[in-house]
Amino acid sequence: MTFDVAIVGAGIVGAAGAASLSSAGLRVVVIDANEVATGTTAAGMGHIVVMDDSEAQFALTNYSQKLWNDLAPTLPQNSEYEHCGTIWVAADDEEMDEVRRKKDFYASHGVEAEILNETALRKAEPNLREGLAGGLLVKQDSVVYQLCATDFLIEKAKHNGSVVMKGKKAVEISDGGVKLENGALIAAGKVINAAGALASILSPSLKILKRKGHLVITERYPGFVSHQLIELGYLKSAHGKDTDSVAFNVQPRSTGQILLGSSRQFGSEDTEIDYNILNRMAARAFEYMPKLRELSAVRTWTGFRPATPDNLPYIGLIPGFKSVYAAAGHEGLGITTSLGTGELIADQILGRQSMIDASPYSPSRLAAA
Ligand SMILES: Cc1cc2nc3c(=O)[nH]c(=O)nc-3n(C[C@H](O)[C@H](O)[C@H](O)COP(=O)(O)OP(=O)(O)OC[C@H]3O[C@@H](n4cnc5c(N)ncnc54)[C@H](O)[C@@H]3O)c2cc1C
Repeated sequence: MTFDVAIVGAGIVGAAGAASLSSAGLRVVVIDANEVATGTTAAGMGHIVVMDDSEAQFALTNYSQKLWNDLAPTLPQNSEYEHCGTIWVAADDEEMDEVRRKKDFYASHGVEAEILNETALRKAEPNLREGLAGGLLVKQDSVVYQLCATDFLIEKAKHNGSVVMKGKKAVEISDGGVKLENGALIAAGKVINAAGALASILSPSLKILKRKGHLVITERYPGFVSHQLIELGYLKSAHGKDTDSVAFNVQPRSTGQILLGSSRQFGSEDTEIDYNILNRMAARAFEYMPKLRELSAVRTWTGFRPATPDNLPYIGLIPGFKSVYAAAGHEGLGITTSLGTGELIADQILGRQSMIDASPYSPSRLAAA
């Protein structure tokens, strides 16, 4: 049997691609070496956030957030989609300058954001320590339980006639289709590499490194935190290339649990908890929110962000191929940008006009680098 499209990877990015392409009537097969949403998607935080590191990053996060809002009414309750908003927390006056810059950027791009002074910040989040300078509230940001959202997208694709092959490892992708470890060839007109942090094994021209992160989840403490809270220093942590870093990043879950992050490490390939970095991460969180010390943690885990050299994902045709596409390398924003990625890749395969300019995400930029 020949499929219109074969997607390698049933993480949230592959699932979103399958949902978009199958909605347009294409026959899609999704192939995963494991189960649905067992890669990085299982390890993420589910913060749907508009980011302003670059125009291209803004365009993709903003577009994707709109798509999440469109999808939200159809998401099952277990996807826990909630508009909790983000507060970017400023520790001092220098970071307040960054708050003002960020607000101006958002305002010029049609995103509503409100500057909070010290008092307003404490009122919004009473468990933050005293003496923080203020923050920026971006109300439109949300959170989602990404595992259930991925399942939902896969079910949607299946409903549209897609086939999902689990426990099948791809060993080669080419213009003709996907070769599996057991020797079988899955013939397909187009192939999408959505293998996340492992995408460069199948497509060595894609520069993707594993960037390890730790997360902790607590028992239920309803009302302890109301917004996703991120220190402005997070941006330094996300941009840094060489060193291990931690940042205060806290998320309220609808269950009343609190998800606590985050760390970033290159060069650490094992899934083990690194207690040195975990302790640094906790210490950073306690600096901002001392009462976190009194809460009980129930689980700690790690995951690997698929990181690219320029912090933008690869979405589009891979140089050297006629019909092999990349949808990979979303670093710490793949939950947010999955839906936009799915639409952009579907646009390219179907020859449709895209809602945003997809050229900044083209893998062809590798050739220029
Ligand atoms: C600690 C942490 C916190 C994060 N927080 C957020 C957040 O708050 N918001 C946000 O937007 N993003 C966040 N992210 C990032 C987000 O989780 C990832 O960008 C996203 O999950 C990547 O999805 P993916 O589908 O590309 O990859 P994956 O989920 O890894 O899926 C890839 C799939 O491909 C399969 N695969 C790989 N190789 C093969 C092969 N050869 N054959 C068959 N199958 C194969 C794997 O089994 C896997 O299922 C976070 C990540 C981490 C680690």
